Amino acid sequence: MAKTKAARGVSKKSGGKKTTAKASPKAGKYVYWFGRKTDGNGTMKPLLGGKGANLAEMCRIGLPVPPGFTITTEVCTYYYANKRAYPSALKTQMQAGVAALEQQTGKKFGDLKNPLLVSVRSGARDSMPGMMDTILNLGLNDDTVEALARKTGNPRFAWDCYRRFVQMYGDVVLGVQKRPDEDHEPFETVIEKLKHDRYHQDIEDTRLTVDDLRELVLRFKALVKERVGREFPKSPWDQLMGAVGAVFGSWMNDRAIVYRRKYNIPSEWGTAVNVQAMVYGNTGDESGSGVAFTRNPANGAKEFYGEFLINAQGEDVVAGVRTPEPVAELKKQMPKAYNELERIRQTLERHFKDVQDFEFTIEDGVVYMLQTRNGKRTAMAALKFSVDMHKEKLIDWKTAVMRNPADQLEQLLAPVFDTADVANAPVIATGLPAGPGAASGRIYLNADRAVTAAERGEKVLLVRVETSPEDLRGMIAAEGILTARGGVSSHAALVARQMGKVCVCGAAAVEVDYQARTVTVVGRTFKEGDWLSIDGTAGKVYAGQVKTAASEIVAGMLEGHEASKRTEKFRNFQQLMKWCSDATRMAVRTNADTPEQTENAIAFGAVGIGLCRTEHMFFEGDRIDAMREMILAETTEARKAALAKLLPYQRDDFAGIFRALKGYPATIRFLDPPLHEFLPHTPEQQADLAKKLKVTVETIQGRVHQLHEFNPMLGFRGCRLGIGYPEISEMQARAVFEAAAIVQKEGIKVRPEIMIPLVAFKRELDLQIEVVHEAARAVQAERKIKLSYLVGTMIEVPRGALTADEIAQSAEFFSFGTNDLTQTALGMSRDDSGSFLPQYAELEIVKKNPFATIDQSGVGQLVEIAATKGRAGRPGIKLGICGEHGGDPASIHFFEKVGLDYVSCSPYRVPVARLAAAQAALSAKA
Ligand code: ADP
Ligand code: MG
Ligand code: MG
Repeated sequence: MAKTKAARGVSKKSGGKKTTAKASPKAGKYVYWFGRKTDGNGTMKPLLGGKGANLAEMCRIGLPVPPGFTITTEVCTYYYANKRAYPSALKTQMQAGVAALEQQTGKKFGDLKNPLLVSVRSGARDSMPGMMDTILNLGLNDDTVEALARKTGNPRFAWDCYRRFVQMYGDVVLGVQKRPDEDHEPFETVIEKLKHDRYHQDIEDTRLTVDDLRELVLRFKALVKERVGREFPKSPWDQLMGAVGAVFGSWMNDRAIVYRRKYNIPSEWGTAVNVQAMVYGNTGDESGSGVAFTRNPANGAKEFYGEFLINAQGEDVVAGVRTPEPVAELKKQMPKAYNELERIRQTLERHFKDVQDFEFTIEDGVVYMLQTRNGKRTAMAALKFSVDMHKEKLIDWKTAVMRNPADQLEQLLAPVFDTADVANAPVIATGLPAGPGAASGRIYLNADRAVTAAERGEKVLLVRVETSPEDLRGMIAAEGILTARGGVSSHAALVARQMGKVCVCGAAAVEVDYQARTVTVVGRTFKEGDWLSIDGTAGKVYAGQVKTAASEIVAGMLEGHEASKRTEKFRNFQQLMKWCSDATRMAVRTNADTPEQTENAIAFGAVGIGLCRTEHMFFEGDRIDAMREMILAETTEARKAALAKLLPYQRDDFAGIFRALKGYPATIRFLDPPLHEFLPHTPEQQADLAKKLKVTVETIQGRVHQLHEFNPMLGFRGCRLGIGYPEISEMQARAVFEAAAIVQKEGIKVRPEIMIPLVAFKRELDLQIEVVHEAARAVQAERKIKLSYLVGTMIEVPRGALTADEIAQSAEFFSFGTNDLTQTALGMSRDDSGSFLPQYAELEIVKKNPFATIDQSGVGQLVEIAATKGRAGRPGIKLGICGEHGGDPASIHFFEKVGLDYVSCSPYRVPVARLAAAQAALSAKA
């Protein structure tokens, strides 16, 4: 028993010298050892991958790790640069690596007395859950399996290893996988058939006998032969080289590419390969495998969290084939191993100073560590970890801020089920709460149909027996994920947590029938397209559609709901936001056009409006009639008369906004869209308007025709309107100043910042500024009041950016309109880009959607040039950004680098922007 004690002793011996000294990659060194001699360490993730670097680090701090070696990511790069060939020195270095394992374990690769088996494990820089496949028990063939059986006196174990090996190798290396028309993995189908042939029912894998397993291996090999047309490889070295090639090959498989695209991982990074001596969790009931977190990654609680399976190898736990037991159970079943794991849990947190997600195997009562990494967590857990670990003095407050992923923060604002509505909804099943939040949707049982339904605009719930990486697209499209099998570390749970999807796992009462496309729960059957609702915080499944309600944070901040304010989630959030205020350099404003939006944004911590679009002020109610009258007017006089009708409306709108702002500044953009957008386009609407305005339909149609533009985005819009019809700007300026006068007299400070859109020439701005100043002078005189205001411009066309020094002589501020700046710099219409951008992303022409994340090297240069030139033209000029990018964390980091004074985004993005701005400031200082 405990055949690998040597391995354990070995890595312990080298332990204890806590070192993270940086070893730089040595030229020509492709293989790094860990074990008795450890070459790498935890800082070497780019070279050794996350798994390899941390295996080395764990060896260094004295944790029990089976010995192994890591083939570097440089080999992956070489492999793809050289038509899938290896550097010539690799083979010798691998042979030396295997020899070292033989020496440390006392076993021999391919030996007929005491065979060494290894695992071959991928390991990218960032862990990519389920994307790359691991092969266990490599080195077995018809001869070594007998040797293993004899040596251990445990033939069942030996044959269990062998059938696992043939299955994994067949799948991963030889590509024997599910065909498009199949709902099950072919190997699983073979297993099921054998169980039914021999036992006439589904039995647990652990009940299969030696004879069953022998038969399975035969059938597996026959399946391989049938599908790939050649024999299963016998030589351990052939097996090893095949497996290494498969790991490198999998770096470019569809699943990995989809995942990298979603998380913006460059394909140049490559993966490492780890070859490691096997330890066995499947030798009997004193053995097992598990996955654990040092704290609860779903809700953040400080508790040992995880699960294990007795008499199993690690793949069983992650694959969700059997539903594992919670680690707390180990305390009863294997108290010594449990205590050892508790000790390891604490060592890990003290050393890595972050919550760890680790994988272990127990072989005959002895614990081995197989992996550790920073645990993926929900936004809720991230928040609690950061605040708690700060209290525990494991991390400082700045680290605590950095520990909250800005692009996940919105999860905390996501709705929960409406208390009243959910009280009436029938709970039909319970499962594990794997991804918090509330989701209601129409059920779909496979990824393709889920995606199609989501594209039709349906809210979708993906329901599967268990998920696998092929389901990723469906999971992305779904509101939530429900699985019948699998635990909190199953594929579904991991991916859901990372994507912030609501997820309930292992709801055993849910029977999924892929053929009939139905889900049956205690006698009730739901067809595809029917509604189910899941609560991923509580692990409950409800029949039908359940209404959702605001999260505690939203209820507390926006509605002042007292009970919500007392929740820990709310208080932790406030703490985080306070730290953000301490750390940030840039201010966060909001894009808001109504008092209500403004109030919400301020409650979230915005300090002003960065963009108030005035378009809607022309649309509401019967204002549109006056607007249309203005557009149809033949003379300036008639136009002014129509505008006079609009003035009081706009004045009231501005007054409401100024009041809501309570003294914060408001950047107000003057009319921007082309006029034809305001005219009626259907014959009925045109006839209607003709009647109202007492003109002929032909007059209206004529004007519509006249205003038609081939390219409205580049047409008569922006400041071009105010220049063509100065009376429009005059009316808007007057409305702003009259409102300012009214609100200022109420005792509220008012700071309007009037913004002229689409300026490309200084002279355009000058003409408009004159109109604004004139209105200001008039209103101040009429109302006997002194108002302070700024006039500036939006920088949103390349010429404006390039001549920013000239423009800054007139403009008191710039706000980057990065939506139009992106459209005009790329010559790409955002609204038309849907037809080709997805392919551009696929071909990696663009790394990210340039309308979501600023194109730093192109559009970003225009921003930098305009900022530099703007400051030259007017020292200290105020600079902000008001495009969509103002709420995007990656773009915010860029704006920090450029030194903008503020970013502006929609009200619900304000917390995200505050966090991203704080993090950007902290990283800039670091
Ligand atoms: P993934 O990247 O998908 O997590 P891993 O390389 O971590 O894949 O392998 C999956 C599981 O296989 C591990 O959790 C572990 O239980 C098992 N495993 C890997 N290597 C070994 C080994 N040398 N001995 C025993 N089990 C192993
Ligand atoms: Mg793993
Ligand atoms: Mg614009």
